Parts: sequence; structure tokens; C-alpha cells
Amino acid sequence: MKVTGRTKIIGIFGYPVEHTLSPAMHNAAFEHLGLDYCYLPFLVRPDALQQAVEALRALSLVGVNITVPHKEAVLPFLDEVDSEAAFIGAVNTLVNKDGRLTGYNTDGRGFMLSLASRGIEVSGRKILLVGAGGAARAVSYYLSAKAEKLVIYNRGREKLRRLVDDLSKVRENVSATEELCGIEQFDIIVNATSLGLKPDDPLPFDPKPLTGSHVVCDLIYRDTPLLVTADRQGCVAVNGLGMLLYQGVLAFELWTSLAAPVEVMKKALLSGMNQ
Ligand code: NDP
Repeated sequence: MKVTGRTKIIGIFGYPVEHTLSPAMHNAAFEHLGLDYCYLPFLVRPDALQQAVEALRALSLVGVNITVPHKEAVLPFLDEVDSEAAFIGAVNTLVNKDGRLTGYNTDGRGFMLSLASRGIEVSGRKILLVGAGGAARAVSYYLSAKAEKLVIYNRGREKLRRLVDDLSKVRENVSATEELCGIEQFDIIVNATSLGLKPDDPLPFDPKPLTGSHVVCDLIYRDTPLLVTADRQGCVAVNGLGMLLYQGVLAFELWTSLAAPVEVMKKALLSGMNQ
């Protein structure tokens, strides 16, 4: 990559940010298309988030991705938040247009594109979503727009209630469950909790009753113990790598207004994961 006086800068704000695969994915795309852009990681402490957002304007960055723990905290510092990100209450992509900052959330649509890329149909299906954090909010908004019904479970009841109440304002097919039983009655089961990130985590639910007719998704982008077990049961097992890829594809298109080279980005992600 050759950085010149004309190079446009994009980046990611996170804390920590060391393990992000986004620079590899986006820089591969810029290089492939011969675009004079460069994507950089920025370690932004929570108490410096407002200053970092102001620096976006001051330094004329094209935009940034926003990751943990800033996705919700960044909202008050923006000029505009698109309606879907406002509903979700979290932003993962900022676009700087002449000093005016708009926040978007590409996680939920990224997840839907990842299902479509695997040929998984959501329309008319019964879906169980486990989790009610930021990622669950993002995917639930889009899943409920297509599914026959969406049932949500979360350990924390207050967060569960808040999500179901919010979704019920715009959807009629969403409900909460306080128990994880009868999971075999669903067609697609999605883990949107962080259980599976650590090696000694328990499974978020027991996939034993599931068979070859079920799809099990985990938003974690590696093959978690849940997915390994589901795969052994014959289920279609989908990890979160596709979601990571397609949220990046959508962000790329917001920043550049060009079609993203999906295969190039996917290859860069896979090689970044193996390093
Ligand atoms: P949040 O912190 O907002 O939410 C965490 C969720 O996990 C909550 O529902 C929480 O439940 C649940 N949880 C955490 N610990 C436990 C536990 N011990 N037992 C039961 N439930 C638990 O995180 P996010 O929503 O941002 O992220 C969730 C997952 O999604 C992460 O693993 C993240 O890596 C993944 N993700 C993947 C993306 C991708 O592109 N593939 C994008 C974004 C996220 P409670 O409310 O009870 O605490």
C-alpha cells in the first residue's frame, strides 16, 4: 500500500482494538480496486471517545467503524443517526460528509446477507434468538421483518423485556420466553450472547434435541463449541464470520459508494483469522 498526500483515511475506534480483522479486510478491498484509501486501527479509551469523534471532523477522515465498547456511547456525539441504527440504539459505522457525522448500523443487515449467501431462507420460518445485547438488537430488527415468528430469550429479564417491547412497536410477530425449552420447534436458532468466546464458557443452550432440519447460528465469528455440537447433530451450522464480512461490505459501500469486492474481503478475513 502506498500512502500519498491524497490518501483518504478510514479506521476503527475500539478499546481494545488489537485483534480486529477489519483493517486486513478493508485494505485488501482498497488495494484490489486501486483506491487511494487506508484503513487504520485507533485505540480509543472510553473517556476519550468524544474527543476522538471530534478528531474525525478535524482530520477530515472519511469515516470509521465503531466497535466494543463504544457502539452505544457514541450516539450523543453524532449529527445524525439513521432510523434503523436509532431503533437498535447502537452504531457500528460513521460517515463524515463535509464535517457532518452520520451513524449507521450494518451488523443486522450484514447478518441477513450472510444467511442469504448460505442459501438460508428466513421468510416464513420460526426463529429463536438467544441474547438481548447490542448484536441481538441489530439482528432481531431484521429477522422479525421476515420471519413468521421471532421468540427471544435472555438471561437478564429487564433487557429482554426492553427489546421485546421496542420491537413490538414495529412488529406483531415477536415475543419473549423466560425458558429455553422446546427449542426443536424452531427452524433457526441464533446465539447472540457472548457465551462461546471463552474456552470454559457453558453452551448458551443444549443443541441435543436438534436435527438436520435445523439451522444453528452463532454470531461469534469462530466455530464455537455450540456450532461444533450442532454440526455433529447434523444441523446447518453458521458462524459469525459471514456477518463480520457483510457488515464490512455494507460499510465499505457507505464510505466509497462503490460495490465492495466481497470475495477479496472474505479471503483477507480468512487469512487474518489464521495468523
Ligand atoms: P453485549 O454485551 O451487548 O450483550 C451480551 C449478551 O450476552 C447479552 O444478551 C448477555 O446477557 C449475554 N451473556 C453474557 N454473558 C452471559 C452468561 N454468562 N450467561 C448468559 N448470557 C450471557 O454484546 P454484543 O451484543 O455486542 O455481542 C454479543 C456477541 O455477538 C459477542 O460474542 C460478539 O462477539 C458477537 N458479535 C459478532 C459480530 C459479527 O460481526 N460477527 C458483530 C457484533 C457482535 P445479559 O443481558 O443477561 O447480560
